[in-house]
Amino acid sequence: MSDLIQLLPDAVANQIAAGEVIQRPASAVKELLENAVDAGSTRIEVHIKDSGKTLIQITDNGCGMSTTDARLCFARHATSKIRSAADIFSIRTKGFRGEALASIAAIAQVELRTRQTGEETGTAIWIEGNEISRQEPVSCPEGTSIFIRNLFYNVPARRNFLKSNPVEARHIIDEFERVALAHPEIAMSLHQNGLEIFKLSSSNLRQRIVSVYGSHYNERLVPVHEETSLLSITGFVGKPEFSKKSRGEQFFFVNRRFIKDGYLHHAVTNAFEDLLPRDSYSSYWLYIDIDPAKIDVNIHPTKTEIKFEDERSVYAIVRAAVKRSLGQYSVSPALDFEQEKSFDLPHTMRYQPAQQPMVTVNTDYNPFQSTGSKKLATQGWEKMYESLANTALPPFTPEVQQMDIDAFNKEKATIIFQDAASFFQIGQEFIVSSIQENLLIVHQQAAHERILFEEFMNRYENARSPSQQQLFPQTLEFTAADFELMKELESEIRGLGFDISEFGGKSFVLNGAPPEIATGEEKEAIESLLEQYKSGSGITGLSRREMMARAAAKSMAIRKNRKLSDQEMKILVQDLLKCDKSGVGLNGKPCMVLLTADELRDRFR
Ligand code: ADP
Ligand code: MG
Repeated sequence: MSDLIQLLPDAVANQIAAGEVIQRPASAVKELLENAVDAGSTRIEVHIKDSGKTLIQITDNGCGMSTTDARLCFARHATSKIRSAADIFSIRTKGFRGEALASIAAIAQVELRTRQTGEETGTAIWIEGNEISRQEPVSCPEGTSIFIRNLFYNVPARRNFLKSNPVEARHIIDEFERVALAHPEIAMSLHQNGLEIFKLSSSNLRQRIVSVYGSHYNERLVPVHEETSLLSITGFVGKPEFSKKSRGEQFFFVNRRFIKDGYLHHAVTNAFEDLLPRDSYSSYWLYIDIDPAKIDVNIHPTKTEIKFEDERSVYAIVRAAVKRSLGQYSVSPALDFEQEKSFDLPHTMRYQPAQQPMVTVNTDYNPFQSTGSKKLATQGWEKMYESLANTALPPFTPEVQQMDIDAFNKEKATIIFQDAASFFQIGQEFIVSSIQENLLIVHQQAAHERILFEEFMNRYENARSPSQQQLFPQTLEFTAADFELMKELESEIRGLGFDISEFGGKSFVLNGAPPEIATGEEKEAIESLLEQYKSGSGITGLSRREMMARAAAKSMAIRKNRKLSDQEMKILVQDLLKCDKSGVGLNGKPCMVLLTADELRDRFR
């Protein structure tokens, strides 16, 4: 019998290994960014063409490599970061497996230009199919530039498997953001097809989060800080009232490495328990620093999962730290912890004066004790029942509300109001009035959302979008992600009454805005519109127009804690009664309650 086993040639072995490590252009970006960070860089630039399919170029100002190292770094298991397996348990670098560059070189055309700190000349090396095809001394800046061309050029199956450019670009942006958030002190930029997507200067963590997500994030962050003998944890959680319908901005970093950990995620979610509305998710950026001996980073080829020696303690500490921060915040939201004032942009709208913190102050709140109380989460209409409803009476259901209201002739209701009716505002949140013999209580925010929603849907249906022309057109700059969204939603946004058109770079020019928007607040209005749209994108079964009308209504509606004049209350209630679904708010709950004289009488029996 003949022997059958052969050792695979390096090129083949590397190609197979690449399958695990480099799944898509974004994985190459991640590995190269990590190498740049490990090299001690203070500035990293990334250039991408065709979502990384044609070119990924990463330039750093780190320690660089000697000529020998520049050749050796592409060999399998070539690393400067560990010497023995035991070193893995004291590791603070991102890399240690020594397989990223070998994997990339097996499936792409690679050019490396590097100069070690203090050396006169640098080295340039070209590699294709794992073979060094050319090498020469060059003059180049200190640090390393690496060019990855035509990724998967020799693995057509993988190339064909790649998703569309926007999807692959999104993955790259995700990886870039993870490194950017892990290392706010490093200046980082990302360009795609020559267009700048990110330009982040060296900063502290709060500034970095704000420059990645936009200035409106500044007011959303609650700091977390806890030191224990096992670990320290710092970072931010999003204020509960800014929770989102979709998951997304949820980040754990352990010793500056982004990791995915369902168990720790649960610890955070658990700490939020009563504070979040159902089906909504809070944002968090949490940084754990722990002795590397207490974790195992080598359990996953892409190094995004780790194992804690004492998982339960880590869970308990994370949960307690987040709870404590939220507790402090909810007791004294006014303190607002060290907000970066320089980012404070006004976020006001016409009906929306100085934004008040929306979390109710609850001085009894003990973060370490779960009382099962829903106090903090109770907002809006439910509260009405606490004061109004005597337990003996059945609560009103939305269906009943709608029927009662429909029973009124809407025209007639209008006339009744014009004649007499007084309006009172209760707690700067509800409007109380009477219709004939009935007591009417309106939830001002929910009602205004309903009114605006129907108004915007009308504009879409009648292709009538009133727009107040501006004296001076404004240019609006967007982040990369928001610019894409703007292009996608351009016609829906125009339909609301925004006179916008695409401009150069990542900007739109604004010539007019709907009459609901006060002059000077157009930019904030569009930003908050996009935010609302994104946070509503988890809702299924709605058309894009409905989604947009909802987002616009939610972002422009008056909130609670806003004093209304008699005239404003009257108009609001009148407009509400003219709505098709005047009784129901956009969340499906009542936006007004009607108590008939009989029901009132019942309460006095
Ligand atoms: P690992 O990061 O796991 O060590 P890699 O294949 O990613 O493995 O890199 C191999 C080696 O090449 C690194 O250990 C490092 O010494 C060197 N290297 C890679 N990229 C850079 C860079 N940008 N600057 C300096 N040295 C680098
Ligand atoms: Mg590496």
